[in-house]
Amino acid sequence: MDLCNPSVIKSLLGDEGTHLRKEYGQNFLIRREIPARIAEECTESEESMILEIGPGIGCLTKELAERYGKVVSVEIDSHLLPILAKTLAEYDNVTVVNQDVMKVDLAALVAEHAEGREVSVCANLPYYITTPILMALLESGVPFRSITVMVQAEVASRLCAKAGEDTYGAITAVLGYYGETRRLFTVPASAFLPAPKVNSAVVRIDLYDEPRYAPKDKKLFFGLIKAAFEMRRKTLVNAISAKLSYTKEQVAKALVSIGLSDKIRGERLSTADFSALADALFERK
Ligand code: SAM
Repeated sequence: MDLCNPSVIKSLLGDEGTHLRKEYGQNFLIRREIPARIAEECTESEESMILEIGPGIGCLTKELAERYGKVVSVEIDSHLLPILAKTLAEYDNVTVVNQDVMKVDLAALVAEHAEGREVSVCANLPYYITTPILMALLESGVPFRSITVMVQAEVASRLCAKAGEDTYGAITAVLGYYGETRRLFTVPASAFLPAPKVNSAVVRIDLYDEPRYAPKDKKLFFGLIKAAFEMRRKTLVNAISAKLSYTKEQVAKALVSIGLSDKIRGERLSTADFSALADALFERK
């Protein structure tokens, strides 16, 4: 069965009396080579357990099941469960969990299914909730090897930006704490049913085994990033002193002590710079 064929998709949904649901961000892939390529490029370790978010009717799930040791797919839409039971019937290494990924205990789910395997994430994400899902994955404490996700092209640019670029934002600086992010390839809007208004791209984050940055006060480090980008147009001295309990003089001195200008804006600071600044401010308290 070709799960990327629009007629097959419509008839599978129709047979269960359901349809594509906008509220769940259901834009299904209709070009067969794309799920195959995402699955191929999401990790190098064949024994892995892959955590998939939003299997839909299973086009990517199938490709993952054929390549990796174990697949656990979390799907919010219960109407899709009987369809997945049919389309994935031949794979005994797939478990479908009918839950909202934002409510699931990811650490417990992985502990239950990984059986000592390395774990990676692979998903064509629902676009209405991309950043919250990424943050939930990163903050879950699960030692994912990699996270490979399809997102809107402009979000992909944000995730992969370098400090100082227009698309660089809080999420970019935060991602830099957890791992290295790269854009794998672009996917045209026409590859989805229904076609969204914009193109998409697949991004892979390789998580660090050991933290690359170790700010003494993690809460302060993340708080600085948040403050810097909430008031993007202000200098960092003004943004931080307005949001956190530091005076302008303290922030200015801390910046100069790490070799940065006291006139600089947050969007120019790399993750390493934010970490150094957090430590310089921590020492000054
Ligand atoms: N994997 C399929 C594909 O590539 O064609 C479907 C991808 S579609 C963009 C997103 C999928 O995520 C849908 O199946 C949708 O029902 C599911 N989804 C949306 N919100 C979710 C949530 N909070 N938790 C789990 N799954 C969710």
